[in-house]
Amino acid sequence: MTQWVYGFGDGKAEGRADMRELLGGKGANLAEMSNLGLPVPPGFTITTEVCTFYYANGQTYPGDLQAQIDAGLKQIEQITGMVFGDPSKPLLVSVRSGARASMPGMMDTVLNLGLNDETVEGLAKAADDRRFAYDSYRRFIQMYGDVVLEVDHSLFEEALQIMKERKGVSLDTELAASDLEKLVEEYKKVVADQLGRPFPQDPREQLKGAIGAVFGSWMTARAVTYRRLNGIPESWGTAVNVQAMVFGNMGDTSATGVAFTRNPSTGERRLYGEYLVNAQGEDVVAGIRTPQHLTLAGKEEHGSDLPAMEEVMPEVFGQLVDIQNRLESHYRDMQDIEFTVQQGRLWMLQTRSGKRTAGAALRIAVDMVEEKLISESEAVRRIEPQSLDQLLHPRLDPDAPRTVLARGLPASPGAVSGKVVFSADEAEAMAQKGEDVILVRIETSPEDIHGMHAARGIVTSRGGMTSHAAVVARGMGRPCVAGAGELRIDYKAQTLSARDKTVSKGETITMDGSTGEVMLGAVATIQPKVSGDFAKLMVWADGIRRLKVRTNAETPADAEAAIKFGAEGIGLCRTEHMFFDGERIIAVREMIMAEDEAGRRAALAKILPMQREDFAALFRIMAGLPVTIRLLDPPLHEFLPRTDEEMREVAAASGKSMDMVRHRALQLHESNPMLGHRGCRLGISYPEIYEMQARAIFEAAVEIGKETGNPVVPEVMIPLVGMPKELELLKEVVDRVAGEVQAASGVHIDYLVGTMIELPRAALMAREIAKSAEFFSFGTNDLTQTTFGISRDDSSSFLDAYQRRGILEKDPFVSLDVDGVGELVKIAAERGRQTRPDIKLGICGEHGGDPQSVMFCHEAGLDYVSCSPYRVPIARLAAAQAAIGK
Ligand code: ADP
Ligand code: MG
Ligand code: MG
Repeated sequence: MTQWVYGFGDGKAEGRADMRELLGGKGANLAEMSNLGLPVPPGFTITTEVCTFYYANGQTYPGDLQAQIDAGLKQIEQITGMVFGDPSKPLLVSVRSGARASMPGMMDTVLNLGLNDETVEGLAKAADDRRFAYDSYRRFIQMYGDVVLEVDHSLFEEALQIMKERKGVSLDTELAASDLEKLVEEYKKVVADQLGRPFPQDPREQLKGAIGAVFGSWMTARAVTYRRLNGIPESWGTAVNVQAMVFGNMGDTSATGVAFTRNPSTGERRLYGEYLVNAQGEDVVAGIRTPQHLTLAGKEEHGSDLPAMEEVMPEVFGQLVDIQNRLESHYRDMQDIEFTVQQGRLWMLQTRSGKRTAGAALRIAVDMVEEKLISESEAVRRIEPQSLDQLLHPRLDPDAPRTVLARGLPASPGAVSGKVVFSADEAEAMAQKGEDVILVRIETSPEDIHGMHAARGIVTSRGGMTSHAAVVARGMGRPCVAGAGELRIDYKAQTLSARDKTVSKGETITMDGSTGEVMLGAVATIQPKVSGDFAKLMVWADGIRRLKVRTNAETPADAEAAIKFGAEGIGLCRTEHMFFDGERIIAVREMIMAEDEAGRRAALAKILPMQREDFAALFRIMAGLPVTIRLLDPPLHEFLPRTDEEMREVAAASGKSMDMVRHRALQLHESNPMLGHRGCRLGISYPEIYEMQARAIFEAAVEIGKETGNPVVPEVMIPLVGMPKELELLKEVVDRVAGEVQAASGVHIDYLVGTMIELPRAALMAREIAKSAEFFSFGTNDLTQTTFGISRDDSSSFLDAYQRRGILEKDPFVSLDVDGVGELVKIAAERGRQTRPDIKLGICGEHGGDPQSVMFCHEAGLDYVSCSPYRVPIARLAAAQAAIGK
């Protein structure tokens, strides 16, 4: 018999923290907390296997599930002494979803289930509090109506609003028992009107409906989107937790709250959270009333005048502090906890590893090493390499002038500028057109996820540090300013205004999620640095990793940035980028336009000193670190003059007629340039081009070697080789020039000649190619294009559909296709080593900065990865995690 239901409560549980696959994160941790003896209301978890069964079997349940649910209910009844559906001592439960990976706000929880016209009276009597009972009942009808019966929740809100206005009050808590009783009648009427049948009164039917709704919500559009954005497979399924209710809405000694054991924005070691007196469930996050701080320090820091829990419930607060300490040392990680206080008694409702900003993650990891909670390698393992991206972006220049429009909470750090949009759909549409947008909302909800993802940053005028916007933005690494109450957001007019200024849709603002400021226009930024906790963790990572990390750079600025980020050399210097620069493009065009070798050589002679200077500058910055220089790669037509003006320039420089220039441009046109006259094919047709480049490299090496006393060891890379003979011939050219430069300068130069492996044929012929190649650098951009036969630049129109339909799991241009392209890499590495056991192997495509691809490179035994400067720290960390075997 399969166990579909796992009970917990009363100091024990059938589950454990490490059973999250089966019980979901929430269920596994409720079990773990019960086992730890913490006060957890009893309940049971229906496993994720039921969800899988449900979808595999036409939305039906296993035959023996109902009996196990009944047994689970019995157990809750035994522990609590209450009875489900019994008006004299009614047991109420919550029905809570819980997937394996936390999906905040994706699945809706139903509270107070089991209430009906009779049990509500029983509850009132048992608690001796009619107000409380009817408050619970109206909440239940609203939640159940919304989540399970799918009645538009604004209908309930309207009814509530009308009631408040009629009574002349502004807060829910100011409504009297009799008001709430009337409200319940109206709510029931709303449901009956909408559905044409009454609100279900049978608690067992209610429970069945709620469980079905949780499983149903696994496939809602917003859940599907969230999974896609976060790489969560559909097959995981969600669990359902049914748990005895505890009540935070039983008057002024009751409360509900959320807390982080450390500050999720900064990582500071201090309990951090909010609570609301006489409230239930999500009231804290929903922004219905202004939440109060848990600690005095938090209250003071935020200048709140509402009392802290530390002041008004010192005893409960003390227990909470004890429990959070226990949870931290038990889980050895920062926890995000949810609790409720029922008439002075603390109940734990959830714990999980808290989402945090990258900065907080670093600080927490480093602090926990110092607190001896975790080891250095554990700290390295815990940081998501990709998340470092948040810290590697420019910050606002503190000296730059700015006009502050409003100030809100610093909910998720990072500073960005962008055009204002007021809806998630618009954010997505404009981002797709390549615009930087900032999504401005009064508050956000799970329906906005796609827009939050598309936006560079998020601003809300309502909600706290634990509001939906704040939590989701931190999880996504988007900067967020939450609760900027000064902002008046007008969705109709599509404007936001504050401090006498109005900004319309499409106008630029700047927001800083580290300070909470929202500013007019674009504010200047400065470059990021690796220092403090970040630097410490990187040192640990460097001590662990085997893979070297180089950078792709051709400008001195990029090379300098990369060195600061810890690059150990240049893995790819694209020489053609240097060709486009200012004046020299004219000489380059002259060279291309030349009809014969003599003409080309004359033009190349003009380019030589400029190239030499380029290389010298890079060698100087790299100070003896290896530098791989790729000889000219792109099809010549990329350099062709296009406008009449450009053609005239070339004509003047080369002494040709406009007609001749035009004619030559036509001649050079190719119908499929990506597979045309490019790469080493240029070197074969016009060896003098590669000759000039080799000369520039070696002369610069001699010069900088003399200047610094540090010998330069250039690595000359021939692109797009597919046939061994191509490389053999071109290596001869390079060797000959090297000989000439050495003879002329009297200086010995150590250098390597190698090739890019970027064609399937090159990978297959690696054994032969390695006879002349001293290194291979996998050009995985082209290798992916040529392996798939898909042009990267044209792939966006169909790759999306490929991912949606499950043909491709990931975009192979972002994350290396391990099965196909990866196999070619492995074949080439193996065959190359057969010929030349010490052959140097690296990767220089975009993939070099993608953590999963780095993992692959480690496993394939490559020597280094090379990526853009801003990804160097990400690659260093990913390489360390690969070495740990994460
Ligand atoms: P989410 O996954 O969105 O965090 P939860 O299942 O944690 O949803 O439920 C949201 C809130 O509902 C909890 O934080 C808690 O305040 C309240 N809640 C859930 N179950 C109970 C319960 N048994 N008793 C009292 N409050 C509950
Ligand atoms: Mg929760
Ligand atoms: Mg290439």
